[in-house]
Amino acid sequence: MKLLEDRIRKDGVVKAGNVLKVDSFLNHQMDVPFFNEMGKEFKRLFEGTPINKILTIEASGIGIAIIAGLHFQVPVVFAKKSRSSNISDQVYHTIIHSYTHNCDNDVVVSKQYLHADDHLLIIDDFLANGCALEGLIDIAHQAGATVEGIGIAVEKGFQSGGDRLRSQGYRVESLAIVERMDPISGTIEFRSSER
Ligand code: 5GP
Repeated sequence: MKLLEDRIRKDGVVKAGNVLKVDSFLNHQMDVPFFNEMGKEFKRLFEGTPINKILTIEASGIGIAIIAGLHFQVPVVFAKKSRSSNISDQVYHTIIHSYTHNCDNDVVVSKQYLHADDHLLIIDDFLANGCALEGLIDIAHQAGATVEGIGIAVEKGFQSGGDRLRSQGYRVESLAIVERMDPISGTIEFRSSER
């Protein structure tokens, strides 16, 4: 999505440790009309796919998922990071390693909101090593739900998550795939996308 690539070039900041900061429009301050364009694009990409629910994870996935939910006209469920070591049997539970914070999070979704007849689009802001998505896929499988696709705003193509998930047969649509980025020069190169 050229609009997102242009925005990352303009406002993205490359940090040490392979971290791309897009706080000014994506995951701290949120540019809502811009999110609307991303939601529209997810809808176009997954047109014809029987999606009845969107699954994401707090916090940064929620904004993007909500706007996508408007375009798909489906509910959005977000996985919660649980602070409680006492996980009840009313929830699906998994453990997700956080790339940005370098810690493990207990993540839960109430069994009330995910079922075996759900056809899910999983949405997140970033795809790096794939831990967040694998956790959400694990939760979807615990529910017996079908993962119809995965929608990502920014994939870091030089990290392993996207390739691994695609090789497992998941349909992963990333609106921008960063191929290379350099914290010293600040340059960001994208995998060419002709859509
Ligand atoms: P993964 O689990 O795929 O390794 O990392 C994905 C999660 O880590 C995303 O939910 C995102 O919040 C965070 N993340 C990973 N890489 C970056 C990055 O370069 N910039 C930002 N802002 N978040 C990232």
